[in-house]
Amino acid sequence: MSSKLIHILAILLCFNPLMEALAMPTDDTDIRTKDETFWKEKLPPEVYRIAREKGTEKAFTGKYYHEATPGKYYCSACNAPLFSSETKFDSGSGWPSFSDALDPNAVELKKDTSHGMTRTEVLCKKCGAHLGHLFEDSPTPTGNRYCINSASLVHEKDMPK
Ligand SMILES: [Zn+2]
Repeated sequence: MSSKLIHILAILLCFNPLMEALAMPTDDTDIRTKDETFWKEKLPPEVYRIAREKGTEKAFTGKYYHEATPGKYYCSACNAPLFSSETKFDSGSGWPSFSDALDPNAVELKKDTSHGMTRTEVLCKKCGAHLGHLFEDSPTPTGNRYCINSASLVHEKDMPK
């Protein structure tokens, strides 16, 4: 490699962060980089505890456990669309349960080994909020049970107009 080429490469590398910054849209696409102070100010305490601290609401207490109104469910932290009433079913578990996500790209799945168990954590792909866990024990055609905290969701009927 000629020294001139190395020189050009070095310059390109130096400018790389700048080029990335220029390519990044300016709206909330950097929401995943927000720190905890941002979320603590933005979210009600119960939502913060579950979405950011990976808490779990008590079974049978969540606002949407028995919710049957047709419509979409959005992330309570960033408003991204996550689930639909069309895939909601009564699992008897005490938490809102869905056989599928609205879109495979709406959620992120992550191995979770906390509390001495190996489970699959479900997160909002857009903002990284903890939503709940995915179990493969549902009687639905997909066999999947997305066990989601009500506090991580907002039904479209409850979205601020
Ligand atoms: Zn979100």
